[in-house]
Amino acid sequence: MPSRVKILLIYTGGTIGMKKDFETGALKAFNFSKLLQKIPELKQLDCEIETISFENPIDSSNMNPEKWAEIATIIEDNYSVFDGFVVLHGSDTMSYSASALSFMLENLSKPVIFTGSQLPIGDLRTDAKENLITAIQIASLQDNGQALIKEVCLYFEYKLYRGNRTTKINAEDFNAFISPNYSTLIESGVHLKCFPELFLPKTSLEGLKVQKLLNNHVVILKMYPGISSTVLEAILDIPKLEGLVLETYGSGNAPTEDWFLTALKKAISTGLHIVNVTQCSGGSVSMGQYETSSALKEIGVISGKDITTEAAITKLMYLLEQNIESSDFKTIFETSLRGEMI
Ligand code: ASP
Repeated sequence: MPSRVKILLIYTGGTIGMKKDFETGALKAFNFSKLLQKIPELKQLDCEIETISFENPIDSSNMNPEKWAEIATIIEDNYSVFDGFVVLHGSDTMSYSASALSFMLENLSKPVIFTGSQLPIGDLRTDAKENLITAIQIASLQDNGQALIKEVCLYFEYKLYRGNRTTKINAEDFNAFISPNYSTLIESGVHLKCFPELFLPKTSLEGLKVQKLLNNHVVILKMYPGISSTVLEAILDIPKLEGLVLETYGSGNAPTEDWFLTALKKAISTGLHIVNVTQCSGGSVSMGQYETSSALKEIGVISGKDITTEAAITKLMYLLEQNIESSDFKTIFETSLRGEMI
C-alpha cells in the first residue's frame, strides 16, 4: 500500500486562530492546539498532518524578515520528511510573505501554500475551514509520486494563486485577494479544476536552496500629484538606502520636472537601485511608451514590468543580499526568477 502523503501545517498566527480579548474586545492570536480542536474534519483527509507553531503566534501586521527566515527554516528542516507545506498566516501581509518566501526558497519541488481567513475558525460563519481544508488537499496533490505544485502559492476563497502575483484588495469580503496579472492556478468548485499549464515547472535538478537573510535597506514611494522635492530628497537621504520601489502612474509614468529627474539620476549614480512599478492594480510598466516615462528609462530606472509592489519590495530585499555587481543588478531584477513577472 502506498504511504500516505505527509503535510506540515505551519501556524504563524492571523485571524484564523484568533479570539476576542475579554477586556478590550480586540482580536488576538491564541494557542494553536486549540485551533486544531475546532476542525475535527481534518482527520477525514487522506493525508498525514503534523503541525508546528510559532512560539508566539502573531497578527501578520507584525510580520518581518526575521519571521520569514523562521518560516523558511521550518520548511528547510522538514523538507525531506514532508510532501507539502501549508502556512497559516494573517491575510494582511500574506502577499508580502508569500512573495518573500517564493524568493527565499530556490528550486522548490514541493508545494508551500499560504492560507488564512477573514473570520476566526471558531466563528459560526467562518471562511477558515474551507480555506484550510482545501489548501491541505491541494498541497497533497501528486502526479506519479511527485508533487503537482512546486512553488509558493496562496489559497483563499476557492482560488489557488501564485503567491508572488497576489495582493490583498479587500478587508471585508471573503474574496480578499486578487492576482491581477496572472491567472488562477486552481479553482475549487465541485471538483478541483487545475490549470497545469500555468504551474511553475521545476527547471533545475539542484536541491532546495534557502536564503534566509534579506536586506531591508529599502523603501516604497508612491507618487501623487503634489509630491515635493522636500519629500523626495528626504526619502533619498535615508541613511544606507539601497533600493527604492517607485509606484508610478499608469504604465510607469512620472513627472518630467527637472528637480524630480535630477534627484533620481543622482541617486542612481551613487548606487541606489530604483524599481518602477505601476500603482494600477493590473497591467505593466512600459517605460518609453509615454514621454513621461522615457527619461526614467534613460537614467537607468529598473522596469518592474507587471510585478506587484509586494513582490518588488521582497525581490529587492532578496537580491540586495546577494553581492550582485551593480552593472548586472538591473538585468537580473528584470528577469523573472519565480514567475513573479512576465
Ligand atoms: N489582522 C489579521 C492578520 O493579518 C487579519 C487576518 O488574519 O486576516 O493577522
